[in-house]
Amino acid sequence: VNLANQIAAGEVIERPASVVKELVENAIDAGSKQIQIDFVDAGLKKITVQDNGSGIPSDQLDLAFTRHATSKIKNERDLFNVGTLGFRGEALASIAAVSHVEILTDSAGQVGQRAEFSAGVKQLQEKAGAAVGTRITVRDLFYNTPARLKYLRSPRTEIMKIVDIINRLALGYPHIAFTLKNEGRILLKTVGNGNLKQTAANIYGRNIAEKMISLDDADQDFEITGLISKPEITRSTRNFISILLNGRYINNFQIVKAVLAGYGNNLTDKHYPFAIIKIKVDPLLVDVNVHPTKREVRLSKETQLCRLITKTISQKLMLSDV
Ligand code: ADP
Ligand code: MG
Repeated sequence: VNLANQIAAGEVIERPASVVKELVENAIDAGSKQIQIDFVDAGLKKITVQDNGSGIPSDQLDLAFTRHATSKIKNERDLFNVGTLGFRGEALASIAAVSHVEILTDSAGQVGQRAEFSAGVKQLQEKAGAAVGTRITVRDLFYNTPARLKYLRSPRTEIMKIVDIINRLALGYPHIAFTLKNEGRILLKTVGNGNLKQTAANIYGRNIAEKMISLDDADQDFEITGLISKPEITRSTRNFISILLNGRYINNFQIVKAVLAGYGNNLTDKHYPFAIIKIKVDPLLVDVNVHPTKREVRLSKETQLCRLITKTISQKLMLSDV
């Protein structure tokens, strides 16, 4: 069992940012309105994620740390109709397999619980006072899989990856207030009032966000909203293009190409715009069960979607020119 968990951990948990992503996605799935993330030593010494979501009932705590146990899908049909960020039930088990985990959780009408897991094995569980929600602390990541540590990049790069994933999740969920701290020092704080432009301002700065243009278009299958910069506001990497499909941040080169095509010849070589492209689609048209990290998805009618994105961006840019 532990070996299987460690193998799964290798696929899901590559680096500190993967832990942050999985814990924060769970907090989002739990209906949180506020999520606080704090880390020490680029996440290797400690990562804490505190939410005010539903909490985990005490009799389900063990299940939550069991691989392939998920409360989010109940049958095969649900697997093709995934409405939550998580569904594979392997993140908590995988994280616990390669670290020391402490969880403090309280669901409404229950006594709070505190438990500790090390290398996947529960060390203790006790009653504990807690506000409704969950706080998970991950210590000494990869302490028992030293080979993993060797693959990590510099602390600076690992921190950038943490910031990047929180940026994208915050853009996907502007009605959630995120606070990200590095050893207590605030790196990012979003308003959480549902306003995408204000959230973009929290992330990219007011100067950039204020000049961004809103998107709002649809066809019979897809709904597109979001923000794009004018062609004169660019960066030298594609990193400021975020594609969010039903709230999930995805990697999709075709869609990125469709975004760039919307700018036509207006971008100088090697210059990329800021773009937040939010796509809403019937979950039945999306297969998210392609890769353990769920970053890659298979999408029916991708060509149709790409055309819609290119069209709506080029129209908006044309209008904003006059
Ligand atoms: P998945 O998200 O795929 O279901 P995880 O291993 O990430 O699997 O989490 C396992 C289960 O633990 C979830 O299905 C959920 O029931 C519970 N859980 C995890 N984190 C939280 C949280 N922050 N708040 C409430 N429940 C949680
Ligand atoms: Mg999860």
